[in-house]
Amino acid sequence: MKTIAVVGAGPAGLFASLHAAERARTVLLEKMPSAGKKLLLSGSGQCNITHSGETKSFLSRYGDAGRFLRGALYYLPPEKLLSFFGTRGIAFSREASGKIFPESRRAADILDLLTREAAKQGVDLVTRADVREAAVEGGRFRLRQNGGEIRIFDRLILAAGGCSWPGTGSDGSGFALAAQLGHSIVAPRPALTDVEIENFPLTGLAGVSLPRCGLTLRRQGRVIRRFEGDLLITHRGFSGPVILDASRGLEASDELVPDFSGLGEAAEERVIAWSSAHARRQLSSLFRILAAPQELCRALLAAANLPQSLPLAELSREKRKTLVGSFRDTGYRISRLGGFERARVTAGGVSREEINPKTMESRICPGLFFAGEIVDVDGDTGGFNLQAAFSTGALAGASC
Ligand SMILES: Cc1cc2nc3c(=O)[nH]c(=O)nc-3n(C[C@H](O)[C@H](O)[C@H](O)COP(=O)(O)OP(=O)(O)OC[C@H]3O[C@@H](n4cnc5c(N)ncnc54)[C@H](O)[C@@H]3O)c2cc1C
Repeated sequence: MKTIAVVGAGPAGLFASLHAAERARTVLLEKMPSAGKKLLLSGSGQCNITHSGETKSFLSRYGDAGRFLRGALYYLPPEKLLSFFGTRGIAFSREASGKIFPESRRAADILDLLTREAAKQGVDLVTRADVREAAVEGGRFRLRQNGGEIRIFDRLILAAGGCSWPGTGSDGSGFALAAQLGHSIVAPRPALTDVEIENFPLTGLAGVSLPRCGLTLRRQGRVIRRFEGDLLITHRGFSGPVILDASRGLEASDELVPDFSGLGEAAEERVIAWSSAHARRQLSSLFRILAAPQELCRALLAAANLPQSLPLAELSREKRKTLVGSFRDTGYRISRLGGFERARVTAGGVSREEINPKTMESRICPGLFFAGEIVDVDGDTGGFNLQAAFSTGALAGASC
């Protein structure tokens, strides 16, 4: 019987093993003491496993890698992924945002089911097996583990992840294995990460979040793009889905201009209308029409030297401009993007040009397959990365 090695027991490797084990003796090699450490952290431990919507709509959520993923996403589309778990007893709930979570909100339930299912299918999961070297010998794959142990297999699936959150085991060593087998690696960089802001004035507001906040990206004074989504203030700058998704296109020294007013282009008009209708009230009454939570409103007024007790009748044109400017036209300059230790995923990885997207097999080394984040693919927040890991895992496992 054919033997298959899968390196890495994350979602991609676990799913690849389940599919491979239907036809071959499958060994799943994992360097950590247990499988799926990163899966357990996903969605803050709640596991945002995938997203609502047609498979076609997923293709635009992976930057320029959407076309490459087409084969895998159609092989294992979101509804098929959910029905795999559903028929084995896991119920899911959909958020209004489109994110899908297990109803229990426990990533551990997903991982437990995967490891149980792997055992049932006869997958031999070997933990503390850190694969250090890979080579082809006589058409077979020779793997050397820590401690020097050598194992030989007919097929090899590399599913060793990227290099973000290295404490979970994905420390980039999979890229070295792919390179030993002749593959080029597109320089890995942190993706889906937060940003630090130069002299950040809102440190005291860490933890405050703004749903559906408009955000403009300015580079050297020019508007580059506009985004909208949930924004989170941190001790060092900004995070939250809108920042994580935008981070793919951000650079140090870019300026981010959040619309804390939530009023968009109509901000000044709305302030004028409110002030004339409530001339005897104080400036703080404006908080009712602004999207920012009160503590942020108070901090922005203080920074702009505008007393909250100012009667609206005394809000001069100049003061009104200052107010609107501080709520929706203040640029926050990025000093640095969060590194691999804080990035949710890794951009870059094994070059897509060297992988057949219909099978996930290497175009360079026959019998070698790839699955998951080790490939130069990264998606938006919202469940797109786990979906890509499961879909590429299933396709690689079924093709080898
Ligand atoms: C904090 C956090 C939250 C996240 N939340 C979500 C979310 O809610 N939804 C979503 O879609 N995505 C989320 N992601 C991203 C998602 O978890 C990853 O994209 C996904 O885990 C990638 O799966 P993978 O199997 O390719 O790699 P990994 O999950 O990284 O697994 C790779 C495995 O390979 C093992 N390994 C590495 N090198 C070797 C070696 N040399 N020998 C043996 N084993 C090795 C590692 O120990 C690891 O277990 C999150 C990521 C983080 C960090």
